[in-house]
Amino acid sequence: MYLSEKFSSISPSATLAIDSKFKAMKAEGMDVVGFGAGEPDFPTPRHIKDAAIFAIENNITKYTPASGTVDIKKAVCEKFLKENGLEYKPENIVVSNGAKHSLNNALGAILNPGDEVIIPAPCWVSYPEMVLLADGVPVIVNSTEEEGFLPTIEKIRAAVTDKTRAIIINNPSNPTGMCYPEEALRQIAALCVEKNIYIIADEIYESLVYAGRKNFSIATISEEVKDLTIVVNGVSKTYAMTGWRIGYTASNARLAKVMGNVQSHATSNPNSIAQHAAIAALTGPQEPVLEMKAAFEERRNHMVERMNNIDGVSCIMPDGAFYIMMNISKLIGKEIDGTVITGSDAFAEKFLEIEKVAVVPGKSFGTDIHVRWSYATSMENIDKGLDRLESFISKLK
Ligand code: PMP
Ligand code: GLU
Repeated sequence: MYLSEKFSSISPSATLAIDSKFKAMKAEGMDVVGFGAGEPDFPTPRHIKDAAIFAIENNITKYTPASGTVDIKKAVCEKFLKENGLEYKPENIVVSNGAKHSLNNALGAILNPGDEVIIPAPCWVSYPEMVLLADGVPVIVNSTEEEGFLPTIEKIRAAVTDKTRAIIINNPSNPTGMCYPEEALRQIAALCVEKNIYIIADEIYESLVYAGRKNFSIATISEEVKDLTIVVNGVSKTYAMTGWRIGYTASNARLAKVMGNVQSHATSNPNSIAQHAAIAALTGPQEPVLEMKAAFEERRNHMVERMNNIDGVSCIMPDGAFYIMMNISKLIGKEIDGTVITGSDAFAEKFLEIEKVAVVPGKSFGTDIHVRWSYATSMENIDKGLDRLESFISKLK
């Protein structure tokens, strides 16, 4: 059997794999609690669902322009102007089947074989694989918890070579929830202008930043920086629309054209009904977003406080998104049921098997002394999960 070396070398998404396992266990009737996938637990707001029903009833059910309708592109431009102070025209926007698709388009549009992409880590599981799929070379730049999970500019600069074409700035970050301080983004942007490096700014969690903070968008620094930046965003996280599959990019018009051309052959337009619903999300009332954000913030505060009161584990306060990286270094080397906790994989496996709690091993994000909890779940589940964590730790020898 012949198989593509490229495709067969790609690992499955660990976050989605854990989510499938959790959902399968739940379907079997097990009392399992899921902190795996980063997916808002809220339903999609009513007015967005109504817009989709309207689209079906009014036959907005045909092919649209491949890179999205003029209306959704205008809605995206309005969003950028209103929320980020960034001026784009419809020709700068490509609407795709989720931000994952947007990221694949972006990398495909700028990379040639062997080109390097700097990925600050801990990083989301999909970035390195996406770079490989686009024939690029992922260059991981690690950072520690003590550094606030953000690599210093010196570390980033040291990773630049004459093959560096892009850097991925995920702000706020999945899996750490940390936001780059504005000064750090200015230093990164200056380096990118100096070396002519594209910035892929994944801002999918931008609306989920807490304690009165506002996310700073790197493309706002200057026209030069904006021209080098491909902003990636989407409706999945902000509007609890993960299943609808709408993401988008804003970039210079030349790149947008290249991405749109590829999309016209690969997938054609994103779903026409979902596009219509996404317009309602972007231009309609934003109160539901604020309500979800307030709930996430309350959960974050509660979870961080409780976790730091449990002996053997700890975490730093994340700025945004809905993830917490729990430090398990004190538990490494301990034993449970004859299995030694050698790292985050063993921890996550035994925690799921014994206590029926699903978390994602940090190893998938580049740190083996952490596991990721998503707090996009109810307070009740959060307390249940943490009670079970206490029980798990008490069984370790
Ligand atoms: N970027 C990051 C950092 C994410 O966590 C996700 C979550 N799936 C995505 C992009 C993609 O989101 P979607 O494809 O659902 O728009
Ligand atoms: N991005 C989310 C996560 O990290 C959803 C799953 C995925 O797309 O990877 O859990």
